[in-house]
Amino acid sequence: MSKLLGISILNNVPALMAYVDCDERYLFNNNAYKDWYGVDPLSIRGQTIRSVVGDRNYTRLKPFIERVLAGEPILYEESLITATGPRYVQGSYSPDRAEDGTIRGFFVLVSDISERHRLELRLKESEARFAGAFQSAGIGMAIVSPEGRILQVNPALCIMLGYTEAEFDTLSFQDITHPDDLAADLRSFKDMLAGTRVAYTMEKRYIHKDRHEIHAILNVSLVRDFDGAPLHVVAQVQNITDRKIAEDRLFREHELSQVTLRSIGDAVITTDVKGAVTSLNPAAENMIGWLSEEAKGRPLHELFTIVSRNDDAIFSFPRPQEIEEERFVLHGSGWQAANTMLVRRDGVAIPIEETAAPIRDRLGEVVGHVLVFHDVTKQRTLTAQMAYLAHHDTLTDLPNRILFKTRLEQAIAQTRHSGASVAVLFGDLDRLKLTNDTLGHGAGDQLLKEAASRLRACVRDSDMVSRWAGDEFGILLPNVTDASVVATVAQRAITSIAEAFHLAGVDQPVNVGISFGISLYPHDGRDSDTLMQAADVALYEVKRNGRGSYQFFSRGMNDRARERTRIEAMLRQAVRTESFELHYQPRMDLSSRKAVGVEALVRLRNRDELIAPSRFIRIAEETGLIMPIGWWVIERVCQQLKSWAGTDLGGLTVALNVSPVQARREDFYPSLLAMTAKYGVHPSQIELEITESTLVEPGPSITACMNLLKDAGFAMSLDDFGTGYSSFSYLNRLPIDTLKIDRSFIHDVASPQGAVVVDAMLALGKALGKKVVAEGVETQEQLDWLMDKGCEEAQGYFFCPPLAPDELATTLQVRALLQSRASSMDAGS
Ligand code: C2E
Ligand code: MG
Ligand code: MG
Repeated sequence: MSKLLGISILNNVPALMAYVDCDERYLFNNNAYKDWYGVDPLSIRGQTIRSVVGDRNYTRLKPFIERVLAGEPILYEESLITATGPRYVQGSYSPDRAEDGTIRGFFVLVSDISERHRLELRLKESEARFAGAFQSAGIGMAIVSPEGRILQVNPALCIMLGYTEAEFDTLSFQDITHPDDLAADLRSFKDMLAGTRVAYTMEKRYIHKDRHEIHAILNVSLVRDFDGAPLHVVAQVQNITDRKIAEDRLFREHELSQVTLRSIGDAVITTDVKGAVTSLNPAAENMIGWLSEEAKGRPLHELFTIVSRNDDAIFSFPRPQEIEEERFVLHGSGWQAANTMLVRRDGVAIPIEETAAPIRDRLGEVVGHVLVFHDVTKQRTLTAQMAYLAHHDTLTDLPNRILFKTRLEQAIAQTRHSGASVAVLFGDLDRLKLTNDTLGHGAGDQLLKEAASRLRACVRDSDMVSRWAGDEFGILLPNVTDASVVATVAQRAITSIAEAFHLAGVDQPVNVGISFGISLYPHDGRDSDTLMQAADVALYEVKRNGRGSYQFFSRGMNDRARERTRIEAMLRQAVRTESFELHYQPRMDLSSRKAVGVEALVRLRNRDELIAPSRFIRIAEETGLIMPIGWWVIERVCQQLKSWAGTDLGGLTVALNVSPVQARREDFYPSLLAMTAKYGVHPSQIELEITESTLVEPGPSITACMNLLKDAGFAMSLDDFGTGYSSFSYLNRLPIDTLKIDRSFIHDVASPQGAVVVDAMLALGKALGKKVVAEGVETQEQLDWLMDKGCEEAQGYFFCPPLAPDELATTLQVRALLQSRASSMDAGS
């Protein structure tokens, strides 16, 4: 019974059970063979394994069969083909030994473990998949022990926190968590371990290996073992540092813009696309008289009106529903006019300046508009003031040259067809500089103001008096029908200015004069520039020919002006290339007929042409070029004296003409001393000629300078004596050795009047104890007359013209030779 029961059980288990002898033939098998191999279980006994399981299965099992028959118990897993398809099996072969130990056969137990195998495969696969995902995940991942030790990390986490995998082995998550975030993390971690939650998510900060903060989102989940005990924790860490920084920046920018908007003086209004107000800043609230809250959502036209200042046209905003995106505001008619007024809620209008622009989102879509205005009341007043200042002289309040020019152009335009003229009078105050220098700038300013009002009084209201520069004034007479009227105005102005000025704080009356150059439209020019230039040229001529009068422009003046320009260009060039030459004219002692000195006279060399100083000295003085020229002359004279030393010409003194422009400079005296020292020339070898006109307006400095020069040993002479109206007492005070009578007087000695004048000059020289030299002696008669009157020295073509240095040397030697021969003949006779 029990045996039967045992067999029944064996037959009913799903596993294959059998006993096989050493010939691989079944001696016993259960019924499961039917299911597995589709054979009648009863027919199997005595059959070989191969015949029952088939060749393919047998090949796989053969190695196990051989081994079990060799006495080894076998446990294997293999995949077999059965009647119901492939099965994954676990087989066990146990050897059966006889008493003597020999193998009699073996027991077979084969169970189908396909299901378990499949599960195992799936598990392996999912583990592999997890490992792959873990390794290649873009976010950081870690497996952490329940104690917090980091068991495994993926490369992303290594990169994120700067540690290598090996370094992580020694770390716990507590070590890499920002101290401020640790408590919260630990709390959640504990709760999870305790089972009150299965996972948690938090935003926290890690500390990178190089100590900077990493912002992250942490996802933690717990993995439990079979018994439900915590096995490990999987942590996913997403780096959000960049996002955090961007958010912070955005926040700061937003804060900043809010603070800016609140504090700037400009009114800022924003609207949505349709023009409905979305915000006003405080300045806007103040300016338009609406609070931001009440204004919100309203269309702009309800809040204020914009009026164009030019035509008072009221600009009304389009109704919201009419607004077409960007066309609103930006292209709205009148909206962008600069000269606009804003009419506030209370009806008050304020001048404003505004700009408007669309607000766009990231994609460039217009999402609204921003309007910015500011109150320009102050600026507009200021601009008006500036405009006035730009066109007026602050001292005299007269229009300036710019406004003069504009008015002149208007006058020209108006008279173009009427046949009338326009007159430009360009005036220059004489001796303003002297007033400034001697009485101070306060006095000079007073004088200018007074002169301005006197000039204004000389013309009609429709005429314009303007100040062009320091001492320059312009008078514009539009609509002149008779040129004599112009002359009358000029004369009236001259007379008026010639009257003494009584200045506050100045005891003595001050006398100045004015000269005018006049040009007429259309006669002298057809545009403002030409006319103003012509007046300038005419003024220059007036000043050349003595001051205090006026002159109309003429074509000849233009020729002279052109000549002046030509010479100026030539001079500039000559200064660069040192194209000057010095000629020397002897000065004769009349009793001995010997040269006692020579006068150095400069010439300008322009190719073959030798240009006389009368044509360029004045221009050189006006342009300042006299400075380099003057110093060139001085240096050349010193060189000449040095080279003459020890020759027949060694005893000659050289007279130098010094321009007042040069002599007035403070450094003249020391520089001159330095120059003579450089060439080893003694000051007594040099005589300095100063023209009398230099002394007509002497500053205190020139007299002082002359005294210094005199003390240093230079001889001093007054050139062109008689042309400058120096007073007797004044002459007496100056340290002058010699008076050189201008050649124009010598020319006239033949006439009775001329003779009287020169006679007086000679007497004056004698009275003052000065030596007198007659210049420009050309004839025997002149010489005889001069000798008769006791004149001691003379210069002139009669004796010798100015000569180049080598000619001079030969001429003087020949003279000396002839003279000594004559005297020896005299002695012999
Ligand atoms: P100045 O100093 O009175 O010189 C005398 C001028 O009279 C010289 O003219 C000379 O050539 C000329 N002259 C001499 N004898 C006679 C004569 O018998 N008849 C006539 N008609 N003229 C005679 P130049 O060389 O043309 O010089 C003219 C002026 O130029 C000089 O007058 C002087 O004021 C100025 N000048 C000449 N050289 C210099 C210089 O190196 N520096 C400065 N600052 N001025 C100079
Ligand atoms: Mg001279
Ligand atoms: Mg002279």
